[in-house]
Amino acid sequence: MSKFIFITGGVVSSLGKGITSASIGRLLKSHGFLVNMVKCDPYLNVDAGTMSPFQHGEVFVTEDGAETDLDLGHYERFVEIKTKADNNITAGKIYSIVIEKERKGEYLGQTVQVIPHLTDEIKSKFLKLAKGYDITIIEIGGTVGDIESLPFLEAARQMKLNRNSSDVIYIHVTLVPYLSSSDELKTKPTQHSVTKLREIGIDPDIIVTRSEKPLNSEIKKKIALFSSVPPQAIIEAPNVSTIYEIPSLFKKQALDEQILMLLRLRSNKYDSSEWDKFVSRLNLIMNSKNSLKIIMAGKYTKLRDSYKSLNEAILHASVANGIRVDIEYLDTEESKAKIEQKVKSCDGLIIPGGFGERGIEGKIHAIKIARENRIPFFGICLGMQCCVIEFARNVLGLKNANSTEFDPKTPYPVITLIKNQKNVYKGASMRLGNYPCSIKKNTLAWKIYSKSIIYERHRHRYEFNNRYIYSFEKRGMKISGLNKKDNLVEIVEITDHPFFIGVQFHPEFNSKPLNPHPIFVEFIKAALKDKELDYEKSKN
Ligand code: GLN
Repeated sequence: MSKFIFITGGVVSSLGKGITSASIGRLLKSHGFLVNMVKCDPYLNVDAGTMSPFQHGEVFVTEDGAETDLDLGHYERFVEIKTKADNNITAGKIYSIVIEKERKGEYLGQTVQVIPHLTDEIKSKFLKLAKGYDITIIEIGGTVGDIESLPFLEAARQMKLNRNSSDVIYIHVTLVPYLSSSDELKTKPTQHSVTKLREIGIDPDIIVTRSEKPLNSEIKKKIALFSSVPPQAIIEAPNVSTIYEIPSLFKKQALDEQILMLLRLRSNKYDSSEWDKFVSRLNLIMNSKNSLKIIMAGKYTKLRDSYKSLNEAILHASVANGIRVDIEYLDTEESKAKIEQKVKSCDGLIIPGGFGERGIEGKIHAIKIARENRIPFFGICLGMQCCVIEFARNVLGLKNANSTEFDPKTPYPVITLIKNQKNVYKGASMRLGNYPCSIKKNTLAWKIYSKSIIYERHRHRYEFNNRYIYSFEKRGMKISGLNKKDNLVEIVEITDHPFFIGVQFHPEFNSKPLNPHPIFVEFIKAALKDKELDYEKSKN
């Protein structure tokens, strides 16, 4: 039987509950437990796929093709698990299941209600997800007090009924704001939020506090007293330079020991050496004077979370190469001259995934500059499609070549809709999740992967138009990765260039701190070489 840890949040959203949950997962994994991680999202969207990255951050794609909340990315990176569609339970998904059952008459004439029908459905998902694991950590999105979270909190409460008290525990993450005018930390919001949680019938076992300043023992005692927990169960989660440090900060406060004691679990080993090594190497490069400048030309630059996995993958690769990478966002709606000047001054260019026409011409121009000036280039999904358009226009001379996403009437549709993508719903209808890709020998892709078949995650509707393969290959853009079953181009590269690659998939979802993704590692290595070459040139 799995033990359950519920993580709730209070006072405000965006407290970092996802990182807190993932860090707890990491600690318990280091103790040798099998841990599963679940995110409950109280919104009514069935999945995150239809939500704007401007509002909600990145859409994380699981191997089985679910479009989920970005916290699943933290779980995969910290706990090294492979999440699936079920690891993200949204209210929309639960309501759809219950309504479908009702339409089929499965409730045998009962009045269908939030309690017990919705809550039963939620609990049955929890139990299914816990099968085969020692500990299941369930993070409940939103804050206590939101109307939408109530069915999830009620299900979390019910999980303790008819179970031993050591089978289910509750951790509440809350904010302790600092008022500079009076130089004080205020506990009142936490008091209110714990009261709210109690009204629902949940007594927290541990409180994790987010605060700009360290909590003194008086404050801790105060929070402990009204929360009815021992003072050592008040765990601080201060702002840190890297999120990967949080597990060890929790460890220092004996959070793991307290959890194991509450769950009556015994661990006979603890090994975090690899993780600690990664964190110390990360700290070293963070404080180093040497760095690389990588330009990221995407559209969702206002919300850093929009490219969460991508930023993390770059970070993992930078640690692997022992060099800090400073990412500069490029607004591709700027003038051509500005784009040219910026791209020429960087060590590498990344064009990430994206949708819609805005900024596309600027991206294509940025790629042209990188191609012509032999600056390392890495295009992901939309970025790959843009490098194909650039090559068609400027090397093959196909005037106005484009993707039919941006110009349905283009004379040269080098990127076009996949056949079965015509006239479909917006939700969960793209080419999603893992697909195999065969790698051609003697290519950059082969050098990177050293494997003949790879699996990577996808999220797109448009594809390279196979009609043009011959002309592209003849002029130097090679197809080095192919999905043989559906005959879809997955990787393109320019042979006569230090590093120029475009991939139709999203490798960033597979990068982990302890297992950085090889494309990112090689891209950063190439950028490092580019910088060294520039340095040599400047000396002569
Ligand atoms: N808009 C492009 C497509 O749908 C690229 C998608 C992406 O970058 N994720 O094919």
